[in-house]
Amino acid sequence: EGGDVDSKDVVRNVVLVPIATIGCGKTTIALALVKLFGWGHFQNDNVKTKKGRGQVFADTISSLLVTNPVVFADRNNHQKRERDQLINDISKTMPNVRFVAIHYVHDRANFEPIRAATRARVLSRGDNHQTIQAGSKDQGEIIEIMEGFMHRFQPVDTSDAPDDHFDLVIDIDPTIESRENLEVVIEKLHSTYPGLFRDREMPTPSDLDAAVQWAMEYQPDFKMD
Ligand code: GDP
Ligand code: MG
Repeated sequence: EGGDVDSKDVVRNVVLVPIATIGCGKTTIALALVKLFGWGHFQNDNVKTKKGRGQVFADTISSLLVTNPVVFADRNNHQKRERDQLINDISKTMPNVRFVAIHYVHDRANFEPIRAATRARVLSRGDNHQTIQAGSKDQGEIIEIMEGFMHRFQPVDTSDAPDDHFDLVIDIDPTIESRENLEVVIEKLHSTYPGLFRDREMPTPSDLDAAVQWAMEYQPDFKMD
């Protein structure tokens, strides 16, 4: 994937594809990366149309790649067909994109701790979200929606399509603090694609603390009815 360019020479056209469920911390990590590096970020929760949402999402990511070296494709991508759609639709317009999976590992044996962590985050997020408004909606209903994502979750399998299109898979843990996951993501990107970080100082531990803190204070700029 990504043509003949060596990973070390990659300086742009990288899409970060989280593979996750609700409340894993996708938006938190995305916003922290925006704050630290000025990269692009688009949330599926901000797509206002009902028809052709997948296409709108992919097209928006493609267009952000024109002005941003790295773009975070912020939706769950928890099923292979979503990954397939995103990778195919972006590759049609941008043939040299590298796709990096940000894989929030969901082993069946670990489902209970994952439920505990993601529910606690979503319920404490309350109404501070575009669609999942845990403060005013029935909590049982929100837990059902979250369960649906858990049950449909398909882990990354790079031995077959579509996940064999990933240039890199970064495994992270949905039960730990986003601060720690952010550090794993940055370290792995830095070691694989040093060119993305050329001509800049790497952030210090306190820069990472501040970026996650800032991300956790984020308020969406609109809410769906
Ligand atoms: P997403 O659904 O995967 O995008 O999850 P979010 O990034 O929105 O995180 C869900 C909620 O948990 C938000 O209110 C975040 O501010 C909060 N959150 C994310 N990471 C952490 C963390 O490491 N610690 C705590 N205490 N809250 C977090
Ligand atoms: Mg989110």
